[in-house]
Amino acid sequence: MPWFIKQHTTLNPYISGMTPSKPTQTAPNSQPERTFTVLGATGSIGTQLLEILEQSPSLGRVRVLSANRRAECLAELANTHKPEILVLCDPSQKAILEQGLTYQPTILYGEEALEESSIYESDLVINALVGFSGFMPTVRAIRAGKTVALANKESLVVGGAWLSHELGGDFSRILPIDSEHSAMWQALQGEARNAIQKIIITASGGPFRQWSDSQMETITPGDALKHPNWSMGAKITIDSSTLMNKGLEMIEAHWLFGVPMDRIEPVVHPQSIIHSVIEFVDGSSKAQLGPPDMKVPILYALTAPHRVPYPNPTIDWQQAAQWTFEPVDHDRFPSIGLAIASQQTGGMAPAVLNAANEVAVARFLQESLSYKQIAQCVEAALDASMNEFTQSNVNDVDSYKDADNWARRYAKSWKA
Ligand code: NDP
Ligand code: MG
Repeated sequence: MPWFIKQHTTLNPYISGMTPSKPTQTAPNSQPERTFTVLGATGSIGTQLLEILEQSPSLGRVRVLSANRRAECLAELANTHKPEILVLCDPSQKAILEQGLTYQPTILYGEEALEESSIYESDLVINALVGFSGFMPTVRAIRAGKTVALANKESLVVGGAWLSHELGGDFSRILPIDSEHSAMWQALQGEARNAIQKIIITASGGPFRQWSDSQMETITPGDALKHPNWSMGAKITIDSSTLMNKGLEMIEAHWLFGVPMDRIEPVVHPQSIIHSVIEFVDGSSKAQLGPPDMKVPILYALTAPHRVPYPNPTIDWQQAAQWTFEPVDHDRFPSIGLAIASQQTGGMAPAVLNAANEVAVARFLQESLSYKQIAQCVEAALDASMNEFTQSNVNDVDSYKDADNWARRYAKSWKA
């Protein structure tokens, strides 16, 4: 085993997971320096996290950074943060990375190295990978006893059942970064889980909220990549526009907070100020609010249940404003219903949904599928998978890999 791997890391007491016992307080400054592994460092979430660490060095330092193929960007981030270990999945970019570095870290290449890197010694793994590529690093980190700050919702969508089994149903070692789930987590501080009556998960509605069904026939990748409120990676931007993202997030909330799918209610809130609401059994509701800015939930995942000062934007309460709500239009946005149905089917269905959606989104971006065909392709994959995985064991990681592979192949060759 290489020198930088230590299977059992000491968890910093700063991270108390989701145990909502202590009141909010300012972080003590006597903590030893925390170390982080940042997977998907070059992406939208990864770079925002690194900006926070650059601006607030007392939060800790980075030991491991990973990227897929953007070697130049990885080199730049590495030169600033000086992690000991770099992982680049695509070895063809090796020369660019090595030429860009101003110091000599350990560099590892390939997918296997990415999985391995999730168990290297550090206090917190931040999984900001996109899609199924994030699943195995989450699995490996959880198996190794680590705590994972998770932006990669696909890990929970694909393998929530495996994770639940591995964690004995206690998801407190998974700290949500997704803004809605961070909102739920914050609203649940000091509350018992059995006091939850319902979760109301908000959705911006995306750029096509007010487009007619016939207008939606003409949607181009350029139209769909313009999110009204958030600036994010391409895959989640398309998922937000189809509302598949909300369906994935309902599954994510189901696993994280142990609430059945039929008590998780999506609602369109175009201003993206209220990031989600917990309704309690006594009729009271708690929400978390703020201008749309991922640095708020990213920072909270690093410091919870404490808060530290940071110059994030705040709501201007003197500015006249309207916060509105409307129901989801399931006819124009069928993807959310497909996600809900896949979770209700269980087994490998959510993994099939996820893989088919990843491929369909990529095909839409390459203009080999129309916008409406994204959902049609996912639905066809789900239907076709019904008799495929009846023998799959949800406690076996290989079952998820098989389902993912199968659905990818299916969606790549699917024709309308
Ligand atoms: P990006 O596409 O911006 O970044 C993805 C990161 O993962 C990059 O570092 C990329 O490397 C790396 N990566 C991509 N594919 C692979 C692969 N096959 N193997 C290894 N590494 C890979 O995504 P986002 O930051 O937008 O999203 C990351 C996750 O966070 C997603 O699950 C998303 O749903 C979730 N999320 C994102 C939000 C946002 O505001 N962006 C909000 C809430 C959740 P490279 O740059 O080299 O390609
Ligand atoms: Mg979200």
